[in-house]
Amino acid sequence: MSSIDTDVLVVGAGAAGLCAAISAAPRRVLVVCADDPRAASSTALAQGGIAAPLGAGDSVRSQWADTLTAGCHTSDRRAALRVIRAAGEAVRFLTRVGVRFDRGESGWRMHLEAGHSHARVLHAEGDRTGSAILAALLAHVAGCEHIELLSGLRVAALLEGQDGGIAGALGFDREGGAVRIGARETVLATGGLGGLFPFTTNGHHANGDGLAMALSRGARVAGLEFIQFHPTALKTSEDPVPLLTEALRGAGAFLLDARGNRLMKGAHPLGDLAPRDVVARAVWERGLQGEGVWLDATAVFGSEHAGEFPLALHTCRSHGLDPAREPLPITAAAHYHMGGIVVDALGRTDLPGLWACGEVASTGMHGANRLASNSLLEAVVCGRTVGESLARSSPVRRVPRAKPLTPGDASIDPHGGGVRLRAIMGRCMGPLREGGELQSGLRELTALRESLAPEALTARQRLDLSIAMVQAALSRRESRGAHWRSDFPHRDPAADAR
Ligand SMILES: Cc1cc2nc3c(=O)[nH]c(=O)nc-3n(C[C@H](O)[C@H](O)[C@H](O)COP(=O)(O)OP(=O)(O)OC[C@H]3O[C@@H](n4cnc5c(N)ncnc54)[C@H](O)[C@@H]3O)c2cc1C
Repeated sequence: MSSIDTDVLVVGAGAAGLCAAISAAPRRVLVVCADDPRAASSTALAQGGIAAPLGAGDSVRSQWADTLTAGCHTSDRRAALRVIRAAGEAVRFLTRVGVRFDRGESGWRMHLEAGHSHARVLHAEGDRTGSAILAALLAHVAGCEHIELLSGLRVAALLEGQDGGIAGALGFDREGGAVRIGARETVLATGGLGGLFPFTTNGHHANGDGLAMALSRGARVAGLEFIQFHPTALKTSEDPVPLLTEALRGAGAFLLDARGNRLMKGAHPLGDLAPRDVVARAVWERGLQGEGVWLDATAVFGSEHAGEFPLALHTCRSHGLDPAREPLPITAAAHYHMGGIVVDALGRTDLPGLWACGEVASTGMHGANRLASNSLLEAVVCGRTVGESLARSSPVRRVPRAKPLTPGDASIDPHGGGVRLRAIMGRCMGPLREGGELQSGLRELTALRESLAPEALTARQRLDLSIAMVQAALSRRESRGAHWRSDFPHRDPAADAR
């Protein structure tokens, strides 16, 4: 086994990990990621943009109110306010590192998205916002002397320190060679867990591994039942399914059922701009009935707005579809995890030496449902907060306990949570849930776990995480935000956040 020692270890090279690394100067940081950092992250895929209350007539209070409404009485109000207050500075930071947000005649162009009461979503390179942000952050990191970036290293477990905290991580390089990384501080920025579902917009990097590793070390987690499904993924046989940004509906696109009727007409006062969970359930329900749903974006692509959606246009064309002439077949798909490792205002978990930021963490901001374009914002703001906190704190020496490794530890499925696991999760943890289905899913997952070879480390951790998610969904005997149960179809006000 090869060995590396570092001051700060950041696992993950998306927006959260890179912002944490940049802001941690002058501490020495090793950033590791499993695959190509330019492509293998949700940050690289983000289309809609980043929300900030910077437009005329907009305010922190207004974005805060919209965030709490989407979060469905479950958000941590203070965490949400903290992140939104830092939005202006986060956008300025991104422009300083080289992100060029799209401009109109009177400054930055602000877009309207579902759930937002003001046009406040900034784009860069149209709907390629995430990759534009990532490219700028990676270019900046390349010039930072305090950062080393190591790609092709998949982290599989957290190293326990002799003080009971976390003292680094164990991983495997591309050849399956084991690598032990000792670190004084470890930051998990591994993103989401869409890969645990059969339909997902997330790439192959997002299997919930960071969350699963933290869970296995006893870190406190929250909101595991709250998974946001995106209502408009292009229905293809690809894995992941390509996303058609919600901003298309903001620009005038709408949903049609199999008879050509408007799907959302009368279903919600906001119609096609209803909250994501409402639209995703409507789309999913038709799918369960064997019916298709289409996104009609012909007016958008036939107008001057067409140039704002180069990625959507490319996606459609590469599937032989002309969005200016025909409605697009869509499905709902697992998209974003509101829950995660519980962190405090500085990004500390309850395990000494372990920090978390971005989608893997739970600040509590999103509650039961994330407001569109608030997650890039949270990743940038909280990544920076973690980095700045590390920069201010004095290094603590942590000695890892020795852990034996077996060759089987490397035998992981890097491209998802395993076909059976994904099928079970899709059946019982989708946008429409029911107690009996959840119970049977739990039994199947438990049996699957028992059938694993003892050394199948990553598969076991992913199954433990999936089991914990189903248990969380079972114990929430109500419907709230992205968690909807047909056997408990109402919100229980007693479960509201205080
Ligand atoms: C298709 C799509 C569109 C989206 N559009 C928007 C949008 O418009 N606006 C918005 O606000 N949000 C959007 N989101 C959500 C947003 O992109 C993510 O929540 C955010 O980018 C998460 O950033 P992150 O840094 O936490 O994680 P990521 O960007 O996912 O980065 C995770 C990193 O961890 C690495 N990693 C994971 N596991 C391991 C491991 N075991 N070992 C080593 N490395 C590992 C990955 O390779 C990657 O480098 C979108 C998401 C998707 C999937």
